[in-house]
Amino acid sequence: MSTEGPSYADRRARAAAALAQRGLAALLVSPGADLAYLTGYRMFTSERLTCLVLDRDGGAALVCPELEAPRASAAAPDLGRVSWRETDEPHAIAAGLVRSDGDVAVADQMWAAFVLKFQAALPDRAFHPASEITRALRERKDAHEREALRGAAEAADRAYSRILERPFAGRTEREVGADLATFLREEGHDEIGFTIVASGPNGASPHHETGARRIAKGDAVVLDFGGGREGYRSDITRTVHVGKDVEAEKRRVHDVVRRAQDASYTAARRGASAESVDAAARTVIADAGYGELFIHRVGHGIGLDGHEHPYLVRGNAQRLEPGMAFSIEPGVYLPGRFGVRIEDIALIDDDGHVRPLNRADRSLAIVG
Ligand code: ZN
Ligand code: ZN
Ligand code: ZN
Repeated sequence: MSTEGPSYADRRARAAAALAQRGLAALLVSPGADLAYLTGYRMFTSERLTCLVLDRDGGAALVCPELEAPRASAAAPDLGRVSWRETDEPHAIAAGLVRSDGDVAVADQMWAAFVLKFQAALPDRAFHPASEITRALRERKDAHEREALRGAAEAADRAYSRILERPFAGRTEREVGADLATFLREEGHDEIGFTIVASGPNGASPHHETGARRIAKGDAVVLDFGGGREGYRSDITRTVHVGKDVEAEKRRVHDVVRRAQDASYTAARRGASAESVDAAARTVIADAGYGELFIHRVGHGIGLDGHEHPYLVRGNAQRLEPGMAFSIEPGVYLPGRFGVRIEDIALIDDDGHVRPLNRADRSLAIVG
């Protein structure tokens, strides 16, 4: 299914309306997911200021270094631009584009060096995080974004099915990780985010740094990988076992984690609280006696950022709504022994039901 590209002008109009509603003067958005969301311009952060100035009166201009102007105009042809030269003071130029009265909001991930200069250039205004405006917009994915996330998830699924065909025993985590990166690229990713290969006892560290350990028969191996495809992120985890002889407790833990994920799927729907989805998985794991070993929240939102709102964690009473996309990734980690995690990306559809975007088999795969 092909969907029309997003209307960045519409997104900016909605952001401007939200600024007006909150009495804020303007959004100052440096490179990152908010900038990509509002303009289509995906740009790296550097010491040279690039900044969208979106005033609540609807005025929008991208302040950018002259040498980046060709790239910026190709990515965001509909956006006004003010380019600056190496000897100009770009913060003063950007600050001069804030026309309305009131406080300003700056991108949550703007470098402190830029924020401090903006504070000096706009001395009478208080500063807010841009997420006060952009969070509500970005949390509810539109049709284009849902398709993009689905495409990224399906590509990650294909990378997973391909890694199952490769040998594990006798190879290092790094070698398996390099294969995963290759498969992600071949399956359509343009950016590799991470390829965690956590074998044997390393599996007990949820964000293990893939290393030189040689994988052996009898290891459980946690594979957690993802990246970017046209700006939208994938993130999938499966736990595999090297060889057919699986220790009883490994099978049991894998089964518990899988049932925990099922429980979260059952809990996730329109109107459910984010924390209830976490609690559903946690209850299953605690009832099985592993409660102390599930040491992270059950999930995070995903979109242009790999981790974004909504966070599925105790204490977050926020209600799930159609268009929200997030991971469901319970895990159990036995220090010094092994770990198990299973992760899918899920989406709340317009009918209010949760749908997995990842379709890869979730059973404990046996690899060679
Ligand atoms: Zn993680
Ligand atoms: Zn992950
Ligand atoms: Zn994740």
